[in-house]
Amino acid sequence: MAVWDDVVGQERVTAQLSAAARDADAYVTAEAAGKGTAPLSGSSMTHAWLFTGPPGSGRSTAARAFAAALQCVSPDRALGGAPGCGFCEGCHTSLIGTHADVEVIRTDLLSIGVKETREQVRRAQMSPAGGRWQVIVLEDADRLTEGAGNVLLKAVEEPAPRTVWLLCAPSTEDVLPTIRSRCRHLALRTPPVDAVADLLMRRDGIEPEMASYAARATQGHIGRARRLATDDRARKRRAAVLRMPQRVADVGGALKAAQELIDAAAEDAKEVSEELDERETEELKAALGAEGKSRMPRGTAGVMKDLQDKQKRRATRTQRDSLDLALTDLTGFYRDVLARQLGSGVALSNEEAAAAVAELASHSRPEQTLRRIEAVLACREALERNVAPLLAVEAMAMTLRAG
Ligand SMILES: [Zn+2]
Repeated sequence: MAVWDDVVGQERVTAQLSAAARDADAYVTAEAAGKGTAPLSGSSMTHAWLFTGPPGSGRSTAARAFAAALQCVSPDRALGGAPGCGFCEGCHTSLIGTHADVEVIRTDLLSIGVKETREQVRRAQMSPAGGRWQVIVLEDADRLTEGAGNVLLKAVEEPAPRTVWLLCAPSTEDVLPTIRSRCRHLALRTPPVDAVADLLMRRDGIEPEMASYAARATQGHIGRARRLATDDRARKRRAAVLRMPQRVADVGGALKAAQELIDAAAEDAKEVSEELDERETEELKAALGAEGKSRMPRGTAGVMKDLQDKQKRRATRTQRDSLDLALTDLTGFYRDVLARQLGSGVALSNEEAAAAVAELASHSRPEQTLRRIEAVLACREALERNVAPLLAVEAMAMTLRAG
């Protein structure tokens, strides 16, 4: 299994990364042999990369695969094999996250601040312990605050000789222009539904029928497809969202459906938080020497408060993500309705809601469907602008009703 096997439907990107890994390997080998090295410029390899692509397209998977290929020490390389065998110590430890020279930074918060970024920049100055590359994968480069972005910029402008930054973001607009211009850009596409289904079967051992359902329902979003295929609760939640269009016929129903959507998102956030919050709090207490005590040592209130703030921000984010998923499902439903009304032969993304799609399609006009899709998009935008979730969802539900 090569490291690229899990990078689904991105042939162009993997070809480029594979070439870069080959040049990077030649560079390391030449330097180790004391042959001196030409600068990287002009080769396929460079110090800073920006991976963009829609959510679920596998940005961070691609970045990790590249990190692994850069650390590949397979003896086959000497025989002309491309780095990234997937089996050797370098590949394997990079992929499972234990390689000393591969740091993956992801956040469950809404933003990454100056302090964390400084830490990574300091790390980036170090020489790689394994003698190859110091790789730092920044999964949510779009969440850097402006201050943090400026800290990072310095590091990307003057990289240490063996440091490689792999930044991931939904689009180039999500990253400071100054940083963007220093990075080589790789654009991932939404992987084809069949390729996602294939991955679910091959990698996760999911039955063909379920794999194909999940891949189609999530329209090529790998992570969501996997969750839908493996988590019964996710399937129930999705079914509830797809029933919403039929329940908004009157004002009471619309408001009730809105409330339920909000409650479900809050429930998701609660489940994630409860488990994490408790563990973090206990760990911090232990670190402060207050394990099992109800009263905290003097002078530690500030640290506890910091943790509580962080936990609160994470809960907000989880809730927002969950709502966003629901809205994505809803958009898919109305898109199916529209496809049917316009008589396009596109396969339904919501087979399980085929009857509801057919009914709405025959009882409404395409203009109404378009307006409904716009209402869902408007709701998403409102949530991004921090409008109170219930207000935004209620407004949407009322528009869905009136059509
Ligand atoms: Zn390898």
